[in-house]
Amino acid sequence: MSDATPQRIVLVTGASRGIGRAIAERFAQAGDLVLINYMQSQQAAEDVRGGIQKAGGHAELLRFDVANGTEVNAAFQQITEKHGRIDVVVNNAGLAIDNLLLRLKEEEWERVMDVNLKGVFLCTKAAARPMLRQRSGRIINLTSVVAQTGNPGQAAYTAAKAGVIGFTRTMAKELASRSVTVNAVAPGFIETDMTGSLPDEVKSGYLSLIPAGRWGTVAEVAEVVAFLASPLAGYITGQVININGGMYV
Ligand code: NAP
Repeated sequence: MSDATPQRIVLVTGASRGIGRAIAERFAQAGDLVLINYMQSQQAAEDVRGGIQKAGGHAELLRFDVANGTEVNAAFQQITEKHGRIDVVVNNAGLAIDNLLLRLKEEEWERVMDVNLKGVFLCTKAAARPMLRQRSGRIINLTSVVAQTGNPGQAAYTAAKAGVIGFTRTMAKELASRSVTVNAVAPGFIETDMTGSLPDEVKSGYLSLIPAGRWGTVAEVAEVVAFLASPLAGYITGQVININGGMYV
């Protein structure tokens, strides 16, 4: 990287594992300073940071619960005080609590909404102020193929992820005039802890729905996120990019 190009400051929420980890590593490979957010998996987050630093990259840890407004605002204040800017926010942190409607508890619905949807709102709101001031920024939100197709047992998760799509489109329109783009990526079934815990018969059922005949990889998601954050993607905003092996077209 030339000395004239300031290093980008990139926050990836939920970067201790899975897709978020791959996204963090992808940005670090490009020379960005990556802020690795996590909530519970301290050791895993330290391992991500260690791996990036070993490869010559730059990374810091930032623990906060994306669903807690006080923690989110404190984290963004810390970022802007320390680094003076925030260039990219990847709203990746997510969780699924699966239950058929009649068994789905109110508190399960609320937690899924809080992490997957309210977390995106809180982090986007906190990022928007410095990005609007900078007149540049990239926000990329993780939604899911099941927000588009529906999926029995995932009422809360699909509602939250569909909410992320609507939110992304509105934010794209609100922030576009200051060169802040807001897009979503919608992975299909990707091999991570989230999907690894599914029973084998559920996994083989899902596989039969994927024309590509295989699950996706975290690297295939990270590459699209990296593109959406790149300078040449500056005219793409409010879009949902599907990465699903043909499952939903
Ligand atoms: P994962 O392996 O279960 O990892 C989830 C990550 O989110 C972890 O790093 C976890 O951190 C973090 N997290 C959870 N709650 C958090 C909170 N309240 N605050 C901060 N971080 C929190 O999940 P994944 O499969 O990589 O999924 C990543 C994103 O892609 C999610 O938004 C998911 O919905 C979406 N997605 C996944 C798939 C798939 O097939 N895997 C498909 C479509 C969409 P800690 O462990 O440190 O708490």
